[in-house]
Amino acid sequence: MLRHFTTTRQRLHATQDQLRAAEEALRVADAIFQNVEAVMVTNARGRIQRVNAAFSALTGYAADEVVGKTPWLLRSGHHDEAFYVAMRAAIASTGRWQGEIWDRHKSGAVFPKWLTIVAVSNGAGEITHMVATYVDIRERKRAEAQIHQLAFYDVLTELPNRVLLRERLQSAMRACADGGGHGALLLLDLDDFRTLNDTRGHSQGDALLQQVAQRLAGCVAGNDTVARLGGDEFAIVLADLCSAREQAAARAEAFGRKVLQVLRPAYVLGDGDHHGTASMGVALFGGTEQDVDTVLKQAEMAMYQAKASGRDTLHFFDAALERAITERVQLERALREGIERGELVLHYQPQLAALDGGLHVVGAEALVRWQHPGRGLLGPGLFIPLAEETGLILALGRWVLRTACAQLAAWATQPDLASVTLAVNVSAPQFLEDGFADEVLALLRHAGARPERLKIELTESMLMNGADTVIAIMRTLQEQGVQFSLDDFGTGYSSLSYLRRLPLDQLKIDQSFVRDLAGDDSDAATAHSIAGAIAALGHSLGLTVIAEGVETAAQRDALAAIGCTTWQGYFFSRPLPLEAFEAWLRTRAA
Ligand code: C2E
Ligand code: CA
Ligand code: CA
Repeated sequence: MLRHFTTTRQRLHATQDQLRAAEEALRVADAIFQNVEAVMVTNARGRIQRVNAAFSALTGYAADEVVGKTPWLLRSGHHDEAFYVAMRAAIASTGRWQGEIWDRHKSGAVFPKWLTIVAVSNGAGEITHMVATYVDIRERKRAEAQIHQLAFYDVLTELPNRVLLRERLQSAMRACADGGGHGALLLLDLDDFRTLNDTRGHSQGDALLQQVAQRLAGCVAGNDTVARLGGDEFAIVLADLCSAREQAAARAEAFGRKVLQVLRPAYVLGDGDHHGTASMGVALFGGTEQDVDTVLKQAEMAMYQAKASGRDTLHFFDAALERAITERVQLERALREGIERGELVLHYQPQLAALDGGLHVVGAEALVRWQHPGRGLLGPGLFIPLAEETGLILALGRWVLRTACAQLAAWATQPDLASVTLAVNVSAPQFLEDGFADEVLALLRHAGARPERLKIELTESMLMNGADTVIAIMRTLQEQGVQFSLDDFGTGYSSLSYLRRLPLDQLKIDQSFVRDLAGDDSDAATAHSIAGAIAALGHSLGLTVIAEGVETAAQRDALAAIGCTTWQGYFFSRPLPLEAFEAWLRTRAA
């Protein structure tokens, strides 16, 4: 009995403990329910049983407005039926669903939420309740949109940026490849934008860019894209022009011309009107297996051509031009390797002077050639300009000087060659490179050549910039005995006063005057007086005067008549390879 009593009391205690624990758990659950994100509980029949304060705040509905209703009242129409079917299927099979949902606020506003639905089952496995938790993701969406905006749009003009343009171009190209159509990429660069920026300030420049962007955006519709690639460069993708290439080209051109026209009227900027134009390059795509980079490069090439041909104009990409550019790139690489591999050679063209009633070889001009592995012997006209533009001229020029110095040293030991002066052509970038004078002197010393035997040929054009620098370099070298000749004289713009300041040894009458010299027309008369004036000028400055390009006895005689008795030209000898040059000299001496 007592035992029984005890156990009953114990049981009573136990039940009370459990009750207390259950109550506590409920209180905690309730606290959670009221303080977490928005929560909605529905019963087995899909009726709303309970919502919390956060739910009311998020949806605008008070609890008594929704309890007993179905969640349908939140539907926005944003999602199709399939969306809800998939949601129910997921809950039925896994007991939960999670995803982004666009619901309607009581006010009518529709915005995105992150929704988690969990099914609650009883001991028998039947679903008794659904608990839906909502998280407001407007902030996150805004941040995402902002990141998207920054990643794909230009801040100043709000146009798509280069990244998005590439994407759009890519998909337009894919569509054309699939559907057999054509599209076009139009690249625009504002003319003289830099000047506006520099003279009227960046804020005016920005204002112009924004107005240009607006005008461009007004030109396109539908599938077409206007983008700002950076700086004053814009692009338009015409996604779908026509399946026939010629017709597509004609449409792209008509469109491009319209755009140029739209850009022409004055822009109203803060401090007054501005007249601006643009240059446009157009590349068609479609059909072939091009990639985005190729099309961009093609449009760019065309755009540079438009710039070069006077601006405010449109150019189509042209395959011949591309080939020329590709060849140039290949040539540059081949030349770089060729210099390293020793493919350059010097040819020597004799320079002769009438002295004491006889004709004497006084020197030679070293002229570089390139023994190209595939194309044979190339003249300098084919690679010197390229070398000058690409900076290869420095390595090339160094090789020429080193070889010339070594040659002078070798000749110094042979009596019939010891007195030959070697003239070497030096390009402006090479001459103006820091340390040029020291390098020449070092090369002479290293080779063991006499500086007096080296003559550097400069051209007038390179003397134009930085007179004092040029003179200083010349002085340093001349003090050591190196001579200077002014090449192609008469074709540049040297002023007399400037010429007098230059430490020169020789003027070289340009071959264009020599060519015209021996005729009997007015050209001949002009050439005659110019050559005569140069000779007189040279002599009055105490310089020797040489004429190049002498091809006939008549030219030689005409030159002699005006006092020029040092000559170089095919009449005497073409530029010769080393051995032929040495042999030529020996047969003359014999
Ligand atoms: P340049 O210094 O005016 O060289 C004279 C050019 O006239 C040479 O052409 C020569 O072969 C050519 N010539 C010589 N005699 C006659 C003639 O009687 N008639 C005609 N029609 N032409 C004649 P080349 O060798 O093709 O050189 C062309 C240019 O390349 C040179 O003009 C020079 O500016 C440049 N060059 C040549 N070698 C070098 C070099 O080592 N370094 C640099 N920087 N430039 C070089
Ligand atoms: Ca020369
Ligand atoms: Ca010349």
